[in-house]
Amino acid sequence: MIPAQIRHWVFDMDGTLTLAVHDFPAIKRALGIPQEDDILHHLAALPEAEAAAKHAWLLEHERELALASTAAPGAVDLVRALHEGGYRLGILTRNAHELALVTLQAIGLGDCFHTEDILGRGEAQPKPSPDGLLHLAERWQVQPREMLMIGDYRFDLECGRAAGSHTALVNLPDNPWPELTDWHAADCTALGRLAGVLA
Ligand SMILES: [Mg+2]
Repeated sequence: MIPAQIRHWVFDMDGTLTLAVHDFPAIKRALGIPQEDDILHHLAALPEAEAAAKHAWLLEHERELALASTAAPGAVDLVRALHEGGYRLGILTRNAHELALVTLQAIGLGDCFHTEDILGRGEAQPKPSPDGLLHLAERWQVQPREMLMIGDYRFDLECGRAAGSHTALVNLPDNPWPELTDWHAADCTALGRLAGVLA
């Protein structure tokens, strides 16, 4: 069970609250990024004009995905239940802040997060850096250990670990990273049951 004292939950967005639609290999091909490279790190190392042009392409591509987002199983019920239960909720995404707003609106969760609690790649160092979580801890005046980072990928878990927060993995049937994971749930419904907020 997830202790009821952990009332500050931070969600990854893509693939966690939404069904994963990003085709990262195709994005890398379109931007001329080697398949083994990290997209954001690669862009950060480019000359300014080239980086700006590629960031603009990425934003446009992701805007189309954001508008067509669909919620992951249980995500809307879980976030609504937490919101109504008075939990403080944040988003930490490698996507852009404005597209996170579009996405949350598209899946019907636009009213459950304060806009300043939605950190995109422009507001924090990208995960696996703990920067975003530490920023929210400071904003919320809580200790990182009172927070739970929820995601569907290793970066989310590593970010949580590095910050000293709890971690939960969702939307993967098997857990490839047990050493990084405090709780593993099949989906957001199962995670809500572990926290006692969903029946
Ligand atoms: Mg994700």
